[in-house]
Amino acid sequence: MLVEIKNIKKKYGKKQVLAGAFLEANSGECIGVLGLNGSGKTTLLSILAGVQTADEGEFLCDGKDLFKMPQARSRAVGYVPQGTPLIEELTAYDNLFLWYDKNKLKEELKSGVLKMLGIDEFLKVRVSKLSGGMKKRLSIGCAMANHPPVFLLDEPMSALDIACKQNIKEYLNSYKKAGGIIILVTHDIMELELCDRCYIIKNGIAEEFQGDKGELLRRIV
Ligand code: ADP
Repeated sequence: MLVEIKNIKKKYGKKQVLAGAFLEANSGECIGVLGLNGSGKTTLLSILAGVQTADEGEFLCDGKDLFKMPQARSRAVGYVPQGTPLIEELTAYDNLFLWYDKNKLKEELKSGVLKMLGIDEFLKVRVSKLSGGMKKRLSIGCAMANHPPVFLLDEPMSALDIACKQNIKEYLNSYKKAGGIIILVTHDIMELELCDRCYIIKNGIAEEFQGDKGELLRRIV
């Protein structure tokens, strides 16, 4: 699969946040999206996820514009925003049950993505009682219900402990190995290790960064 994000423009009032952003990703690739606070990273991701619309631009998956095909987009794209989009009053299991059918849920808990993320360990716990890392793993588990080929993640490891970061990193590496495409908004060194290429958003434009990742972090963080 080839993802081509073309000429994305977005204004809030008079403020031009995205001024024609172009990015590209191939199967098995993780691309990092970096930039200073307020540069438009979350705006870009939420536009791709369909949470808000672009003023202009295309989101092509193998040549098909997903902006014009909302149902195809919901099958093709998984999204984990910065906050956790979970229902706090329900257990982990009941949150998953909103996304998975019963048999699929059983299978994924036994040997699939949910097992890999360690979600089987806290299934019966109410979300309001879970740690930040557990919530993040559960959010990823929910977003992966239909095995979407494209995964949008907004700082998935921020404020998590090392063991939890490692677990998420291992899962995302296996997702990449299976041909998945990750678009990752990041500030974090462990997240950056997952990235095959990085773009920096500046003045509303996404520029591919060609240098060393250490230098990249010094420039951005
Ligand atoms: P980043 O993720 O890079 O920190 P954002 O995409 O969150 O940046 O925000 C980019 C700019 O757009 C910021 O100046 C922010 O204040 C503004 N912005 C974001 N969302 C909205 C909104 N819904 N309405 C008005 N301005 C917004």
